[in-house]
Order: sequence, then C-alpha cells, then structure tokens
Amino acid sequence: MDAGSQGPARPELMKLQQVSDNCFATLNERNRVCDANSGLINLGGGVVVDTQADLSHARRMIELFATVWPGMPRRVVNTHEDGAHVWGNQLFEGAEIIAHRTVPGRMRQAADPRALQRLLDDASRLLPRLFLRARHPGALAVARQLQRDYDFNGITPVQPTTLFEDRLVLDLDGTEAHLIHVGPCHQAGDTIVHVPAEGVVFAGDVIFRECTPLGWTGTYARWLQCLDLIIWLDPEVIVPGHGPVCGIEGAMEMKAYLEHVREEASRCFERGLTPLQASKRIDLGPYEGWRSPARLYVNVERAYREFRNEPAEAPWDTAATFDAIYHVAKVRRCAVEF
Ligand SMILES: [Zn+2]
Repeated sequence: MDAGSQGPARPELMKLQQVSDNCFATLNERNRVCDANSGLINLGGGVVVDTQADLSHARRMIELFATVWPGMPRRVVNTHEDGAHVWGNQLFEGAEIIAHRTVPGRMRQAADPRALQRLLDDASRLLPRLFLRARHPGALAVARQLQRDYDFNGITPVQPTTLFEDRLVLDLDGTEAHLIHVGPCHQAGDTIVHVPAEGVVFAGDVIFRECTPLGWTGTYARWLQCLDLIIWLDPEVIVPGHGPVCGIEGAMEMKAYLEHVREEASRCFERGLTPLQASKRIDLGPYEGWRSPARLYVNVERAYREFRNEPAEAPWDTAATFDAIYHVAKVRRCAVEF
C-alpha cells in the first residue's frame, strides 16, 4: 500500500446470523485482529453484546440488528476491555453499559484508539514508515493490515455505566441473561453471557473459532476452567468473540489448543529455548490451519511467564510483540497476518 492510500473502513464484510429464537450475531467474516463479533438478545428492550472496533463497523452492526429489533437497545454488555469490543459504545447514547468492575481501568490502559490511529498514520507517512520498516516490521505490517478495514478516528471511549463483581442476572421480560465473570483468562474483564432459555452463550474472546487465540492478561488454568464451565453449561450455540458460530465443540477445541501449546511450550522451556525460538519450532498439528497461526507467539510467551512465575498482568510491549509474530510467520512460511 502506498503512502496516503489509506482506504475506507470495510464493514461490508459483516453478516447477520440468527442463532436462536431471540438471539442474533453479527460476524466479521475476515476473522483477523479487530474483526470481532457482536451479539443481540432481542428481549426486554434489547441487549447488545460488544460494540465493534470502529464507528463504521459499529454503525453497520446497528444497521444489521435494526432489521430485527424494534428500536435501539436499552442495554449494552462489554465482554471485556479490548478496543474491538468497546469502541462503538458511544453510538448507544442513553443505554446502560454493563461490564466487569475491572473494565473501566483496563480500558484506559489497554484500549486507546488514538495510539492505534497514530500507528496507522505513521504507516502512511514516508519517514515514520521507513523507521517502522527498519525497527518494527511487525508493527508496520499490522498497521497496513488494519488500514485496509479500519479507521480509529472519531472514537471517544465511553466507559461502562454499570459494573458487577462475579455475576449479574438481567431479567428480559421474564427471560434471564446471566453475566458471569470468568477472567482473567484472555483479559481481566472476561465475561460470558449465558441465556439458558435460548441455549446460547456469547463467549467474548474466551473462544476464538478457526483462528489462533490471543491471550493478554490471565492464566492458562483460569482459561481452561472457564472453557470447562461453558462445556458444563451445555449451550446449543456459542457465539465466539472471533470466528464463526459454533456448538460446544468450539470450547473443546479451544481447550485442546491451549493444552497443546502449553505442553509444547513447557518442553521448549525445559530445553532452554526462548519464546521466539519455541514459537518458530512448535508443531501446531491440527491447529496449523487456524487463521493467523503465528499469533502462537503470544500464547507461548504467556506460558513462559507462568513457568517463570511472573505476574499474569505483566504489561506487553506491543510493537515487540507484533514484531515477534511477524518473524514467526516468516520462519513458519505462513501469511504475515495478525
Ligand atoms: Zn479481546
């Protein structure tokens, strides 16, 4: 992509899917970083689950849900603090926005749209781009990928208005929606939304489907426990945070992936390999075909943090992380994508 050729956002790849009598999802079909799903429980005045990564995607989601709902929903749930799940909040004026109590603080730390837009702008300007190419090829590559679909200008992060601790039950005209805090596994605020009468779980990013998961804050143990909980809830349908709608096999496969990576990482750790060396060598077996396999690096780094008894909430150097994914992709000869 040439300098200054930043394209318009591309929300047209989003589709609407009915997943039960009263529950719906909008799915971002590309299934890469920022391509998050949203949900709708079309009862009790309407509940939207997650609000997309930029305003044009949020508007497209509203447009698609508007084909089935009677009016703007009264409530929004943010399943966690990542930008792709909260940056459309401002379009739900007057709605009650519900999230785990850690989300406001974490949103301030982990979800700054201006910082991300600066990176995209740098990738369009000659000198900053040359600097990025030399020093942070991964950060440049992720910026170029995001430029094709996203525009983070105009986003004002809007914080949740209602916070909860472990669980919150919403009464939607007699149908219950259970918000269960399951983090920190992928992020601190991880919350799943279970609608038992509809047989639906909106899983947020504790489930990535057919694409490589990314975990930022939390532990493998907590993540596996959460997946066991979802399997025990036995929903007919799971709407993952990223990727196509699935049944409980989606939770089972996520569990198997995490167990596989932790085990392989442990072997590499014992042999004295660095997380980067390990990520270049680990045999991903059946998971090699999941989208963006080089994101494995983040999961290996996290496993190493646990082996070294480092805190689960240790911060990430974002540019260095994208660079590592870039180098892993090059060595593994898979597409450089995030
Ligand atoms: Zn996330």
